Amino acid sequence: MIVAEKKPIEEIIEGIKDYQKILIAGCNECVTVCEAGGKKEVGILASALRMYFMNQGKTVEIDEITLERQCDHEYLEEIRDSIDKYDAVVSLACGVGVQFMAEKYPRVPIYPGVNTRFMGVTEERGVWTERCQACGECILAKTASICPISRCAKRLLNGPCGGSTNGKCEINKDLDCAWQLIIDRLKALGKLEDYEKLIPIKDWSKDRAGGPRKVVREDVRQ
Ligand code: SF4
Ligand code: SF4
Repeated sequence: MIVAEKKPIEEIIEGIKDYQKILIAGCNECVTVCEAGGKKEVGILASALRMYFMNQGKTVEIDEITLERQCDHEYLEEIRDSIDKYDAVVSLACGVGVQFMAEKYPRVPIYPGVNTRFMGVTEERGVWTERCQACGECILAKTASICPISRCAKRLLNGPCGGSTNGKCEINKDLDCAWQLIIDRLKALGKLEDYEKLIPIKDWSKDRAGGPRKVVREDVRQ
């Protein structure tokens, strides 16, 4: 899933402080799971903003909605009939949802209410870690299903750097060295010989480094 964190409320207020009618829009998918932008967070933010404006002596109308997804035309259409009555929207979706809403409703300013961090997993409640950087050419088959692109600080493809110590990454000692994890898992799988196989130079043109990407699948379009 996409992992996001709530933005500081001061930053949100700075963007919307001059508007009179504001819609807070949550998303029922990833940002709900990571407790940054679902229905619950929409309610909390809306209450905090109402209190803030009331204390400022300002009359500001704040409505709430949580869409199934903000990265799909279908669900964004649900606000088509009401969007024009708002001066601004605070979207608690990831950056994808914010942009898609802005493309669909060009007249209305859309402000992000979360900081989108990465694609990852919930290790335990309140702890999320990165797993994939969408490189466009997955090499997990060669790395015991552990991604060195997202989990090695240096994105090394053929073994650890010299800084790996006691299984921890030299860049961030709170995190395991990805290559230590890969070696341990290869050992556990009885496939340590795979460690000797060189991963060829990667074609980064399929990664974000190759510029914005687009996927067109004719089998799905038909
Ligand atoms: S190799 Fe690429 S696609 Fe596969 S998990 Fe890592 S970043 Fe994601
Ligand atoms: S210590 Fe391990 S995870 Fe950290 S940069 Fe070096 S090889 Fe990558």
